[in-house]
Amino acid sequence: MANNEESRGLKSVLLDWFANRRKSGSIIQERQEREIADGLWHKCPECSVLTYTKDLRANQMVCVECGHHNRVDSDERIRQLTDPNTWKPMDEHLRPSDPLQFRDRKPYIDRLREMHEKVGLMEAVQTGLAQINGFPFALGVMDFRFIGASMGSVVGEKLTRLIEEATQRRYPVVIICTSGGARMQEGMLSLMQMAKISAALQNHREAKLLYIPVLTNPTTGGVTASFAMLGDIILAEPKATIGFAGRRVIEQTLREKLPDDFQTAEDVLKHGFVDEILPRTQLKQTLTQLIALHQPPALTTTHNLVMWETRHLSSTIVES
Ligand SMILES: [Zn+2]
Repeated sequence: MANNEESRGLKSVLLDWFANRRKSGSIIQERQEREIADGLWHKCPECSVLTYTKDLRANQMVCVECGHHNRVDSDERIRQLTDPNTWKPMDEHLRPSDPLQFRDRKPYIDRLREMHEKVGLMEAVQTGLAQINGFPFALGVMDFRFIGASMGSVVGEKLTRLIEEATQRRYPVVIICTSGGARMQEGMLSLMQMAKISAALQNHREAKLLYIPVLTNPTTGGVTASFAMLGDIILAEPKATIGFAGRRVIEQTLREKLPDDFQTAEDVLKHGFVDEILPRTQLKQTLTQLIALHQPPALTTTHNLVMWETRHLSSTIVES
C-alpha cells in the first residue's frame, strides 16, 4: 500500500516536472518567435540556424553557418559596396506616368503609390555615382521589394542616364541585377527599355570603358535578355536563379522535368554565360581589383589635339 502511494507521489512529481519543462520550453520558443518577428534574430531559410541580426548584417546577410545568401535591399547593398559618404544618387524623383492606364487587380498608379509608401523608393532601381575603395564608379542597384524589381520605363531611363553619365566621365559601371522581368503594366514601353539600355552600353563599350553586371537572386526575363548578359565581366552570387522564362513555364512547354540545378548560377557558369561566382563577402574587394586593373588610359595630349582638330575642322566645314 505504502509502496503504491510512494509511486503515485513520484509519478505526480515527474508529471509536474515535465509540465513545467514544457511550459518553460514553450515560453522560450514564444520569446524566440517574438524576437524573430521584432527582427532581433534571423532564422536561416536554408539551415534553420538562428543568428543575431546584427551579426548577420556584419556578414553582409550571408548565413555564417551554411553560406546562404539572404536577399538584401538596395540601401543595404549601396552601404556594402560604396565608401562611406561618397554616394551621390541620381534621378531619385523620376516616376512612371502610367500611359496605358493599366489596371489588373488594382490600378497601376495605386500599386505604385503603395510601393512607394512601403519601400520608400520611387522606383525599382537606385542609381548614382560613388567611390569603391577610392575608385570613382557608377552604380545601379535594383530592388526586388519594388514590384519584383520589374523593369518599367523609369528603371530603363535611370539605368540609361547612369550609363551615359559614366561614359562621359569615363567611369566604370556596375549594376547589381535582380528582376522578375519586364513590367507588364507598361506593356511595350517596358520592353523598349531593353534596347535603350543595350544601346547606351554599346556606346560605353565603344569608348573602351568597363561594365560589370552582378547577377543576384533572381535575375530573370527581360533583364537577363539585355543588360545582365552584356557585361565585359559577368559576376553572380552563389545559387542565384538566373534564367529567361520561368522554370514552370519551360517544364509545361517541354512536358518534362528539368534538373534540380537548372537556372542556378552554378549551372549557368558551366554553360559559359557567367564568368565567376563570388560570395557577397568578397564582392567589394573583387570589384575594386577589376576596376583598378581596367582603368581607362588617360587621354594623351596627342589624343586631345586630334579631338580639338576634328571639332575645329568640322565646325569650319559647317560654317563655310
Ligand atoms: Zn544557413
